[in-house]
Amino acid sequence: MSLGKPSEAEEEYFAREEAAKRQREALERARQMKEKEMEELRRLHYMKCPKCGFDLQETLFRGVAIDKCYHCHGMWFDEGELEKLTGHQQYDLFQSIVRIFRRSSPKETSS
Ligand SMILES: [Zn+2]
Repeated sequence: MSLGKPSEAEEEYFAREEAAKRQREALERARQMKEKEMEELRRLHYMKCPKCGFDLQETLFRGVAIDKCYHCHGMWFDEGELEKLTGHQQYDLFQSIVRIFRRSSPKETSS
């Protein structure tokens, strides 16, 4: 056992805490925005690559529709799509990503 290096479980715990904190901040920011601002954001960014801004194209992969950027080759998963893909195959890495970034219930976020 090496000292000073956090275990995978510890790293996952801190990543999960950080994800929950960012989720609370995003929800709070959305609450403060007016409906018009929200609509404008959606209009500007819907199906646009978050990295390079090109149009995303829906691409079927193992029966799951993934939004893919053919310019920078990034891929976007909607909520639940990663779970659908990893549900068929047990990729530990994907499972822990899903665990960390799963949307928490309103009860958990209203602290
Ligand atoms: Zn892109």
